[in-house]
Amino acid sequence: MNITVIGTGHVGLVTCATLAEIGHRVVGMDCDEDKISLLERGEAPFYEPGLTDLLRKHTGSGSLRFMVREADALSEATVVFVSVGTPPLANGEANLLAVEKAARSVASYGRDGVVVVEKSTVPAGTADRVALTLARERPALRFDVVSNPEFLREGSAVSDSLHPDRILIGSASKRAADVMRRVYRPLLRNGCRFIETDIATAELAKHACNAFLSLKISFANALANICERAGADVVSVADIMGADPRIGRAFLDAGLGFGGYCFPKDLAAFERVAARLGYDFSLLNEVARINEQAVESVVGKVRDALWNLEGKRVALLGLAFKPGTDDTRLSPALDLARRLLDEGALVVGYDPQAGASARAELPQLELAGDPYEAAWGAHCLVLCTEWEEFRALDLRALREVMLYPVIVDGRNVFDPETMRELGFTYYPTGRPAIIPRNRKRLGPGGGPNENGSLSPARRFSRVGVARA
Ligand code: NAD
Repeated sequence: MNITVIGTGHVGLVTCATLAEIGHRVVGMDCDEDKISLLERGEAPFYEPGLTDLLRKHTGSGSLRFMVREADALSEATVVFVSVGTPPLANGEANLLAVEKAARSVASYGRDGVVVVEKSTVPAGTADRVALTLARERPALRFDVVSNPEFLREGSAVSDSLHPDRILIGSASKRAADVMRRVYRPLLRNGCRFIETDIATAELAKHACNAFLSLKISFANALANICERAGADVVSVADIMGADPRIGRAFLDAGLGFGGYCFPKDLAAFERVAARLGYDFSLLNEVARINEQAVESVVGKVRDALWNLEGKRVALLGLAFKPGTDDTRLSPALDLARRLLDEGALVVGYDPQAGASARAELPQLELAGDPYEAAWGAHCLVLCTEWEEFRALDLRALREVMLYPVIVDGRNVFDPETMRELGFTYYPTGRPAIIPRNRKRLGPGGGPNENGSLSPARRFSRVGVARA
């Protein structure tokens, strides 16, 4: 089939590559000319495992092309996916201007009988708006609008799209639903569920999924607070809860909280949808509040460890909002960095992929080339994003280069016993902190090691950092 995808961002570009991989002729269209030039050269504008290979394969064969001009991109397409951004307005509602613009483009250049697929995450009722726009702009055009929410996860987006667990189609037209089944037929062979429903249900289901996953994370973070006060272990509590199949273990990891381009904005947008419909879904506000508190709790631990933050050097490992991506949009790590910078700390970060985007968002952030360089001369290190490579760190070497051996583990990556053995002051999330016995809880840390000599890190003098 001839398919055009409007918006070649994290969702649209992966959609382009997946549709080409399953045999369609695909055009990706975007208003960002720089992005399209990059794509025409076979380069992905962001990091996503496996994406560049697919792009090169299909741009090379000619089954995937990229364009800026709407007329060229839309005139042949029997199906048009709309995967433009739906960023939050100041009041939390989704900004749907790009969706409306995409609808106008289809009205101007789309062919008769086109199926317009709403792939962006949008409030219930948006498809009706899209249909009204098409009908007003070009009364003679025959078309159908369907909702096909996207469930991919950044970091595993290509694999998620090629091996989905479900494909959700909301449609009011049998013809359009049949077209969508044809689009996805090669993926349905792998046992993926094809769920057909009405449009509003599909639109709302996507918001419900993201809100519920956010709720699980905030529930774990609320538990973490209680566990820290009660001397219990939130990881074990989550394991015990997760052993019950009615609950499930996924998304019960306490830590710095959720971020990225989906959960925070979708939570706010869903709350606004409910409010507009006359329902006070204040539970969602509470989920957001607990999430903000998660970052504040880490700042509190850094303060507890270092006393005043002014002039202290804090290393952040992981800057992306989650592992596997270079996306730093609404990343909890950058939120933390901002708060530490506000208190006068010197913040140096390392991320396997997201350094450049983090720096673009937060120019005051110092970047390091590897985790040990980030830790070099640091008074404290905070593990922000659970990249696999951080699990394999040489903690002894890390301790040697740090000024104070203090680690705040915002993702419970490290083993508390190992941290104790290595003599770290260790603040996990929702588990008992490890404060070495010979150190006062609120003291500055550091000091002579077991042999009575200062560690190389304590003697380290090349970086201009304060010694409390
Ligand atoms: P993005 O910002 O990465 O990409 C959006 C793209 O749309 C940009 O390249 C932008 O230039 C382009 N665009 C905007 N207006 C346009 C127009 N009128 N014509 C052509 N191109 C236009 O956003 P994203 O992360 O891909 O998200 C897109 C949608 O998918 C959002 O609604 C989001 O909530 C949803 N979603 C995102 C994810 C995710 O993990 N990122 C997952 C599921 C759903």
